[in-house]
Amino acid sequence: MSDCLFCGIAAGEIPADVIYRDEDFVAFNDISPTAPTHALVIPIKHYENIVEIAEADAELAGRFISTAAVVAKQEDIHEGFRLVTNTGDEGGQSVHHVHLHVLGGRQLTWPAG
Ligand code: AMP
Ligand code: ZN
Repeated sequence: MSDCLFCGIAAGEIPADVIYRDEDFVAFNDISPTAPTHALVIPIKHYENIVEIAEADAELAGRFISTAAVVAKQEDIHEGFRLVTNTGDEGGQSVHHVHLHVLGGRQLTWPAG
């Protein structure tokens, strides 16, 4: 999608602090981190949210989670971490290109707000 921020980052057209890339996924540091490690993992192909990618390509959706685990390991958040994918308006999604937040490096609290 030409007007999508994360498509622009995936294409290298919009600058980001990229920490991982393979043929299907890109990870970069969140511009407004809420934890010492706060990375975002995205599929290069545009899907709006986790439901859309799961329904369209379950194999890719599975590797999406595996890639987030690889990124967490790479970032050395061995004391624990959290994967989050906000979905839709009530879910708090602000960028409508599916992404997994990889959060760690401090004690995270629960329940989420
Ligand atoms: P969400 O609110 O779950 O859709 O998450 C969107 C995330 O994207 C937020 O945590 C933002 O801080 C982050 N974000 C927005 N613009 C950028 C950008 N240009 N580079 C990196 N992260 C961004
Ligand atoms: Zn997109």
